[in-house]
Amino acid sequence: MLELKNIKKSYKTGEFVQHALKGVSLTFDRNEFVCILGASGSGKTTLLNIIGGLDRYDSGDLIINNMSTKKFNDTLWDAYRNNCVGFIFQSYNLIGHLSVLENVEMSLTLSGVKDKKEKSLSALEKVGLKDHAYKKPNQLSGGQMQRVAIARAIVNDPEVILADEPTGALDTKTSKQIMELIKEISKDRLVIMVTHNMQQAVRISDRTAFFLLGELVEYGKTEEMFSQPTDKRTEDYITGRFG
Ligand code: ADP
Ligand code: MG
Repeated sequence: MLELKNIKKSYKTGEFVQHALKGVSLTFDRNEFVCILGASGSGKTTLLNIIGGLDRYDSGDLIINNMSTKKFNDTLWDAYRNNCVGFIFQSYNLIGHLSVLENVEMSLTLSGVKDKKEKSLSALEKVGLKDHAYKKPNQLSGGQMQRVAIARAIVNDPEVILADEPTGALDTKTSKQIMELIKEISKDRLVIMVTHNMQQAVRISDRTAFFLLGELVEYGKTEEMFSQPTDKRTEDYITGRFG
């Protein structure tokens, strides 16, 4: 349902050009849980931002449901971002002065949906937080805040969820629960998750993509990629040579 064709992206800071993505090609299917692994600076966030329409590629093409985005204008990108994609970030990005319920409802404001409250309460129920709807974010734990962010991401039922190190700020036990929840939501949609937690990612994802210095070095079924634990490459990743 999503296809990247030779996507390139550079950032220019004064005279310095950083090639963040050096021609990345890969496809994502419906209802898949894909983990993106790779050392810091390898282009993972850039990739998610491009897939989510938060940032533009320099060249190549991003094909969404068989449609090229080469000629997309701002209106089309806005519509795609607001209706087709949900984002989950490491830092939750909740609005402090709004209640949990209002934070989730925010996501529906842009898409002009009716029954905002009902839909938002139902999303909060899915993440196990219905009873906390009227609290403020600062009255919640980190794991609960991330659950609110997940409810906000799924409330308008997008086809794609993009998560950038969603468990990066959580302890091991909580992060395991959050990953299980993300796994659960990937049953009805494509989830692409950047993570540093390789051990949990390997346990839970359908496919894994490894990035190194702006290039996709490996992409495949997680099960097959990690079938031989003594494999030299796997060892390299596990011992942290690739971050
Ligand atoms: P990752 O998420 O894998 O850590 P990023 O996608 O954030 O990597 O960054 C890839 C490379 O692009 C890095 O070298 C980073 O410094 C650079 N980069 C990312 N965003 C910007 C930006 N807005 N301006 C300049 N350089 C950037
Ligand atoms: Mg990043």
